[in-house]
Amino acid sequence: MALPTSVRIREVGPRDGIQSEKAEVSTADKVKLIDALSDTGLRLIEAVSFVSPKAIPNMADSRQVWEAITKREGIVYSALVPNRKGAEIAAEVGVDSMQVFIAASDGYNLRNVKKTVEESIADVAEVAEVARSSAIPLEGTISTAFGCPYDGDIAPERVVEVTRWMSELGIRTISYGDTTGMGTPRRVREVIEALRSDTPEVELNMHFHDTRGTGLANVLTALELGVDYFDASIGGMGGSPYADGATGNIATEDLVHMLEDMGISTGVDLGALLEAARVAQSFIRGPLPSKVLKAGPRNH
Ligand code: MG
Repeated sequence: MALPTSVRIREVGPRDGIQSEKAEVSTADKVKLIDALSDTGLRLIEAVSFVSPKAIPNMADSRQVWEAITKREGIVYSALVPNRKGAEIAAEVGVDSMQVFIAASDGYNLRNVKKTVEESIADVAEVAEVARSSAIPLEGTISTAFGCPYDGDIAPERVVEVTRWMSELGIRTISYGDTTGMGTPRRVREVIEALRSDTPEVELNMHFHDTRGTGLANVLTALELGVDYFDASIGGMGGSPYADGATGNIATEDLVHMLEDMGISTGVDLGALLEAARVAQSFIRGPLPSKVLKAGPRNH
């Protein structure tokens, strides 16, 4: 199969990246980062998350961040929400899009939200109801789709099952998270092929982590299977909150650098992206894991 000629990239650093930071990040720094990202050509930015401030202290100021950022025409600024309460706040502040999350594995879901995956589907349904009644687009996120640190390997059939539950609620774009970097090209291929055959109505987004060095290899595998929608985090932010500098999400600049050289259009300016990465580096403790930030682009 020919590779896609262009891809969409959703920037998740301001939410997924900062959420995992051990150090407290100020509201002003978050706003500065999102504004810098808005200058790069990125069209999708996951900006905030309306979750319990007790669970995720670094997202407690999401309302203030939302109000302070400069919202550019043509950019979709989205919020991650776990339940009805979060969705109602997102609707009230007027986000452009919402994502609701669930895990593929009970082990992870129980630790994350103290419910089994099946129990969490009731929350997903309530979020879907709020999104529908407020006419806000809703996408889904399924974490631990390529392996779970507690339950081990996740069968592709299980990922299909959880996808079906979401699809039945009208959620037709779903992101598959390699939450702790257990994905390899083989597992990525197995999951995507299962989804394509059993839930063809669902548009796929891949959310890869580079924890074990397979991040961009997994991207290439997904591209070969026709996937053209990816999450990435500026600087590669989003590592384990328990280890400084641990590699998290694939870095947006590493992804753009590779794709553009392959002739796959991203619409993103690499120089501006590196500027945004330097903004992130200014408030993150320890060096960001991004490779291109460290080495510079291949031709510079
Ligand atoms: Mg992530």
